Amino acid sequence: MDPNPYHKPAGHYKPEKAPEMPKHPGNRFRLMFGLPLLPEPENTMNKRISKIEYAMRIAEAAACRSEDPFYQVGAAAMSEDGRIIATGYNGLPPGVQASPSWWNDKEKRKPYVLHAETNLCSMFKRGEVQAVCVTLMPCPDCMRVLAAHGVKEVYFRKHHEASHDSVGLAQFWGIKMQWLDGGNQELEPPNPHRNLNDPDCFGSVLKLSPSARAENCCDDCPSLERCRK
Ligand SMILES: [Zn+2]
Repeated sequence: MDPNPYHKPAGHYKPEKAPEMPKHPGNRFRLMFGLPLLPEPENTMNKRISKIEYAMRIAEAAACRSEDPFYQVGAAAMSEDGRIIATGYNGLPPGVQASPSWWNDKEKRKPYVLHAETNLCSMFKRGEVQAVCVTLMPCPDCMRVLAAHGVKEVYFRKHHEASHDSVGLAQFWGIKMQWLDGGNQELEPPNPHRNLNDPDCFGSVLKLSPSARAENCCDDCPSLERCRK
């Protein structure tokens, strides 16, 4: 344990300015008795998050409003000067209600539910938005809607294998697409080896060298056996 920095022998400590009072409540007691101090709580007030992280956290809050019991997805739109001008989440169109039992049928509900990005785009005009943050990777249909509205950057938190075709669409249209939780892993278009007749075959998600890709693209694929037949 570090010695108590506040506790100095009498006569040797003449600070020009009194030391700051410890924030940890236990440390105030320890200070009085000259005991070693506990680690101070981190000062999060001075940690300023980026504009994109700010938009993403708002999208995460919007997701909590979704009544869909299977997926809660939220989205936030940011103008060129960094203002959040719209939020959205997945659900039925405004004013349409459904009973809780209706929501329980996962397949039946699908065609009726508007995705968060579609709801989001109903709130601004083309060209008003620079970046959109979505909690889940946008599906290809939503990428089309975002492109039609002139969105230039798309950030998402969680990857979704079934939506990976969106990467190819974004690249073709010149839309920047970034996976915030993907670390340094770069997104690349769907694997050319992908078996398009097999809905379970998604190919590789992460960027690999061409040779590594040729060898490893199917390693994690659940339909490996069927694919190589
Ligand atoms: Zn979608």
